[in-house]
Amino acid sequence: MKPDYDSVIIGGGLGGLATAALLSRQGRRVLVLERYKQVGGYATNFQRGDFTFDVSLHAMNGMTPGTPSYRCLQDCGIADKVTFLPQKTVYRLVTRQGDLIVRHEGIDAYQQFLCERYPQEAENIRQLFSAAGKMYQQLSAFVQSPDPFWWKVLSTPLRFPRLMRYDTDTVDQFFSRFTRHPELKEVLAAQWPYYGLPPEQLAYSYFSYPFFDYLAHGGYSVKGGSQSLSDALAESVRAAGGSVETSRSVIQIHHHNGQVTGLTSKKIGDIRTQHVISNISPQATVQLAGREAFPASFLNKLDNMKPAMSAFQIYIGLDCPLSTFGIGPDEYSVFFCDGLSSSSQFQQMCSAPEQIDFHDTGWFLNLFTNVDPGLAPAGKSTIGIIALVSGKHWQQLGKEQYQARKAAMTDALLAQLEQRFPGIRSHIEVLEAGTPKTMTTYTGNYMGSINGFAQTTDQAGVWRRFPMRYPLKGLYQVGAWTFPGGGYVGAMLSARMLVDRYFRR
Ligand SMILES: Cc1cc2nc3c(=O)[nH]c(=O)nc-3n(C[C@H](O)[C@H](O)[C@H](O)COP(=O)(O)OP(=O)(O)OC[C@H]3O[C@@H](n4cnc5c(N)ncnc54)[C@H](O)[C@@H]3O)c2cc1C
Repeated sequence: MKPDYDSVIIGGGLGGLATAALLSRQGRRVLVLERYKQVGGYATNFQRGDFTFDVSLHAMNGMTPGTPSYRCLQDCGIADKVTFLPQKTVYRLVTRQGDLIVRHEGIDAYQQFLCERYPQEAENIRQLFSAAGKMYQQLSAFVQSPDPFWWKVLSTPLRFPRLMRYDTDTVDQFFSRFTRHPELKEVLAAQWPYYGLPPEQLAYSYFSYPFFDYLAHGGYSVKGGSQSLSDALAESVRAAGGSVETSRSVIQIHHHNGQVTGLTSKKIGDIRTQHVISNISPQATVQLAGREAFPASFLNKLDNMKPAMSAFQIYIGLDCPLSTFGIGPDEYSVFFCDGLSSSSQFQQMCSAPEQIDFHDTGWFLNLFTNVDPGLAPAGKSTIGIIALVSGKHWQQLGKEQYQARKAAMTDALLAQLEQRFPGIRSHIEVLEAGTPKTMTTYTGNYMGSINGFAQTTDQAGVWRRFPMRYPLKGLYQVGAWTFPGGGYVGAMLSARMLVDRYFRR
């Protein structure tokens, strides 16, 4: 019997939507099934009173023509449908040692800035950035090369040697090739909370691309919030003849003789297709197909893989402009950490919420309306506080215990905010908090992970990331859980690579 669709995609997150846009623009019959009432997964907005909040986006790297990230938007047909707003500062880092502001001025200016701050390290800094630049170029070339994947892999030692050279380096090991200066290394890795692991554990193969891209091309917000990006992708799918259905949960994947045959969606029923592309966690995907569909060795490996960290985020609408608290118009992402090393901060982040002391543990602040004033009514503003936390302490709580834990963490973070900006609490007009449990409830992501599997060296990179193809014919993975990994750009680039590798025309 003829299949209803060439491919059905489970989940309308950025990875699923970008895949659908690329496939439908090739002329394939594609259907996206999203269980929530709006598309985007983490890349969505919500409204509280007059305020618009972006669920997740703080910054996207590389939204400039010529980069692989931008090329992916062009291929999805949305580069001219979304407005990217440049953030004037890449980040500000406030520690006991001082206050460091990195402006959106490019790699040379950043190197110069570091050389002035650490003059005895100047030559090391230059060598480090020369190597980081080559890695970025080779990774970009690997992603963008039109050659078949097998040929790219085979020719890696000659064409992309840096991918092999740094393949098993952590971020700290890469930096230590050039400098032993502990403070310089912490400053270089300041954005590590974005990637969910401290430099001693984070794979350089994953960090290297956004690290260089942010410094070279800056960070960007999406005008109107990330819902505009997700809606533009869905629109592109529909314009090319594909379908995107919301409030349509997938409850089963069908297979016969080791081959996918279709799936069942609530409210629609059975759908026939030869290709199912999962944008949801591999744990949930395996459940939908039934564990008996997979070899024991595959299941054993999956059961031992570790999810990335989750997050606790507070969304705040203020009844006044940010200038009320002396915040300048150029500020955007501010990382606060009072002096402990990134590893000891991370240890605290992994512990039970009651044991986290935010005097010592990093948290960060985003000043959303400084980049997109349209998110709040005139004269008002929105900010977000985010702390990296482990999902495991939030999933199995009773209702009262959960509410108490959520209230306590909100209060602890608001106390930090008040200490930095006295009087700010009395200006809060609306407040909402999202916990790891919220992340799981809304997206189904295992342990509330915000970036798929943790990017440790044994779970990262072209050769070790969770594969895009399952050992069940016709079943594929896209998005944060597979290569290259989480983040807006990561999820969309995974779609680009999946289509190039398995769905070439
Ligand atoms: C608080 C927070 C802050 C973040 N900040 C940033 C940032 O500043 N920059 C950045 O680049 N990244 C950031 N991220 C990470 C980034 O948002 C994610 O890594 C990325 O959006 C994941 O995309 P994805 O394609 O893997 O799908 P997801 O967003 O995980 O979407 C999966 C979709 O599948 C749907 N689904 C689940 N089960 C089913 C089912 N059975 N049937 C149908 N549909 C189903 C879900 O509803 C969801 O829509 C942040 C994330 C969070 C939570």
